[in-house]
Amino acid sequence: MARIVMKFGGTSVADLDRIKNVARHVKREVDAGHEVAVVVSAMSGKTNELVGWVQGAPKVVGANSPFYDAREYDAVVASGEQVTSGLLSIALQAMDINARSWQGWQIPIRTDNAHGAARILEIDGADIIKRMGEGQVAVIAGFQGLGPDNRIATLGRGGSDTSAVAIAAAVKADRCDIYTDVDGVYTTDPRIVPQARRLKKIAFEEMLEMASLGAKVLQVRSVELAMVHKVRTFVRSSFEDPDAPGMGDLLNPPGTLICDEDEIVEQEVVTGIAYAKDEAQISLRRLADRPGVSAAIFGPLAESHINVDMIVQNISEDGSKTDMTFTVPSGDVEKAIKVLGENKEKIGYDVVQNESGLVKVSVIGIGMRSHAGVAATAFKALADKGINIKAITTSEIKISILIDGPYAELAVRTLHSCYGLDKN
Ligand code: ADP
Ligand code: ASP
Ligand code: MG
Repeated sequence: MARIVMKFGGTSVADLDRIKNVARHVKREVDAGHEVAVVVSAMSGKTNELVGWVQGAPKVVGANSPFYDAREYDAVVASGEQVTSGLLSIALQAMDINARSWQGWQIPIRTDNAHGAARILEIDGADIIKRMGEGQVAVIAGFQGLGPDNRIATLGRGGSDTSAVAIAAAVKADRCDIYTDVDGVYTTDPRIVPQARRLKKIAFEEMLEMASLGAKVLQVRSVELAMVHKVRTFVRSSFEDPDAPGMGDLLNPPGTLICDEDEIVEQEVVTGIAYAKDEAQISLRRLADRPGVSAAIFGPLAESHINVDMIVQNISEDGSKTDMTFTVPSGDVEKAIKVLGENKEKIGYDVVQNESGLVKVSVIGIGMRSHAGVAATAFKALADKGINIKAITTSEIKISILIDGPYAELAVRTLHSCYGLDKN
């Protein structure tokens, strides 16, 4: 007997039939004698709809800004998961399975105060463990917890993955299965590159890079938690027949295992290609070239929860003025420009310029640590296709390249094949 956490994403619970199908996956594990906790997302498209409603709602008179009370945003967008947790519990009960729904606040899943992008601080798993021991399936609303202000907090888009891994760690589950609409992690998004190959295993560090560089198959934080707490995490499909042979295999279920790099025998130089759309570039022109200037720029941006990514600073010609360019998600440009404006005097720059609609493509692989020339291969392949590079950043195991939006798919396909990742 094992303890298993099963997470089902939006397309897996898109309607009542899909929810019934999910119930069959859960039944398979219950019938095998396992203790089961389930984490659900909202029905696909629901969270977008809820976010749209918040954005369209009337704002404080005279506020003249796109901003709203993040606690109310959370109250609205967390509702999608409440619906699916109840509906799945009903579907399970109809199959004679003892099940009940749990909202984040009922467990409770305690988070910090960053409404809209909160981090899980603590989960009290005692009650759930006790009830699982009594044969009850816990159906937990993903994406949500309880903030220190005693209000609902959501974990950022894609956050149900993180709920699932955090719960798996809290209840000491033997396995955390992330069920989605693809049957594992691929060398790149299989929706963009049909030649992408499914990986049997991927190392935590690589998955972390893939996720943070745009592969939305897992939320970044979920991979961090899986790595830190050594949660055995599989990405697998809910669209396969729940009762097909091998689906209930305890040690080797179908899908991709996220694991320590030592567990991977045949390590390729490049494991995958990721891309992130909707990047924007912000440039500060004629900036004072003195100690403390970077802190003056990036401190306030960090305090406003703006995720700055690639940073490029020019060496100044005369030692007095320089330019600084960095990227942020397009959705944060307005906020970033506002923050920079408020701190203009302290930072000391001339003008700020921005360009949206850019794409970051990244090449990822642990094997890069011990191989030279990986970056040069990418640059040559992109040049051969006439794709202009706007910025580059590298780390030990990744190369990221910023390009114009319209070239995204061509760039991903080009990089995927230049490293021999295409399936034969
Ligand atoms: P869910 O709603 O189940 O959480 P998501 O849409 O968040 O599902 O994530 C699954 C999607 O991630 C897939 O449909 C696929 O298009 C996309 N994806 C991006 N990169 C990859 C990759 N490298 N491997 C697998 N899927 C990927
Ligand atoms: N429903 C939330 C979202 O769409 C959380 C999730 O699906 O993981 O972002
Ligand atoms: Mg997701």
